[in-house]
Amino acid sequence: MTVRTRMAPSPTGEYHIGHIRTVLYNVALSKKMGGKFLLRIEDTDRHRYVEGATDRILDVIGDYGLSWDEGPRVGGEFGPYIQSERLSLYEKYAKELIAKKNAYYCFCSEESLNELRNSQQAKGMPSTKYDKKCLNLSEEEIKKNLSDGKPYVIRLNVPANRDVTFHDEVFGDITINTDSIDDQILLKSDGYPSYHLAVVVDDHLMNITHVMRGNDWIPSTPKHVLLYEAFGWEQPKYIHLPNLKEKGGTKKLSKRFGPVSAIQFLEEGYLAEALLNFLMFLGWNPGTEKEIYSLEEFINDFDISRIHKTDLVAFDREKLLWINGYYIRQLSPEDLHTVFLNWANKFSIVLNPGLIDRNIGPKVLSLVQERVKKLSEVSAMTPYFFDNPKVDSTLLSEFAKEANPKDILTNFWLFYKNIVNWDKENLDTLSHDFIKKKGYKPKEAFMTLRIAVTGAVATPPLFDTLEFIGKKTTLLRIESAIKILS
Ligand code: GLU
Repeated sequence: MTVRTRMAPSPTGEYHIGHIRTVLYNVALSKKMGGKFLLRIEDTDRHRYVEGATDRILDVIGDYGLSWDEGPRVGGEFGPYIQSERLSLYEKYAKELIAKKNAYYCFCSEESLNELRNSQQAKGMPSTKYDKKCLNLSEEEIKKNLSDGKPYVIRLNVPANRDVTFHDEVFGDITINTDSIDDQILLKSDGYPSYHLAVVVDDHLMNITHVMRGNDWIPSTPKHVLLYEAFGWEQPKYIHLPNLKEKGGTKKLSKRFGPVSAIQFLEEGYLAEALLNFLMFLGWNPGTEKEIYSLEEFINDFDISRIHKTDLVAFDREKLLWINGYYIRQLSPEDLHTVFLNWANKFSIVLNPGLIDRNIGPKVLSLVQERVKKLSEVSAMTPYFFDNPKVDSTLLSEFAKEANPKDILTNFWLFYKNIVNWDKENLDTLSHDFIKKKGYKPKEAFMTLRIAVTGAVATPPLFDTLEFIGKKTTLLRIESAIKILS
């Protein structure tokens, strides 16, 4: 048996970061088993359909470095892979179920269904259900309604009070009684199939062996099981994955805490490799201390028996930042520069020309690389490498406790004026000798100098910074700072 997994996005909006986790696990399972991963677009809900969303979903999956063996853009022998291009198929299968008496035509109007719902609610029924009225229509009535062109849907005839059990590879056997299941619409009045019909027909026709998806789909699974039974088809294996929640809470990811959609994470300057590495651990772990994983290593180690048996896993944004910083530090300054420019280009981010420059950019990045956690931080961390800073006078005096800040700066200026060899090692040695001679404490002298030259408290090592800025600019900035203190 060739393992075939799938992801079935609905183009209803931006792709969520959790979807990428599910794609990743589906890719890993199929690759590990030497199988195929396919992508199918489930665009049958025309009310929720968002123009352009399909392309954005396909693009963002690619942006994360993931690919599919079959599906839109690449094709494959089981296509088309977009459900709106397969409509006649679903109708055929819905009618097959009618012939088998597992489904029936329903001609009830929107108004009569609303009335039914309202009366059931008024009776205090916990969940409302269709009352199977149209199941009792005679053949003649059905024929007449059809030839009169009366709008209809096709519903699944869910048997009463039957325990439906399916085996989940993570959660074990799950049983749901059919009394809690409504007679699902299989084919809608607009001729489109419902999700339930289309997903079952396509998973079957596309030879899907493992259905791996978020565990919010567990309540839908018995409906699918009933459909497989009705068609007489073999069930796939089910693997339901934990959904994501904000760390420390019980709620799903929220914009209040940062990005939620897959593209937003990239736009903030998280690297795809770092994001994948982070997502690998949201629902799985290798049972070792190993934390840094390439996609290849993940595929190699992935094992469904190590998927976490839990409803929700914590999405630890701090941890993601840490991993991203780690991936940023692993790059050579030149590679980081390329990644940085590609990112700015993709998201139309305006950069200081100095950062774009192939000679200066990598050097500046190398100076901040230790501290950068995401690419979007770089610009705010580096303005003083290119432009004179705005220096805050209170901040400038904050670190000089014993000595006078103005004296400190004046003495540095006089001393630096005569230094010929302006490289960081030389500046480092001479400056330390100098403050010792003057009796300045290192912190008060160097912080005052740092703020005078950069306007910032946290910068790359001071002498790296001074070397980059150059002697002339350093002296000019010290002069300006002295003026602020005057
Ligand atoms: N189209 C469904 C979705 O939007 C697919 C669910 C499934 O994997 O069965 O996620």
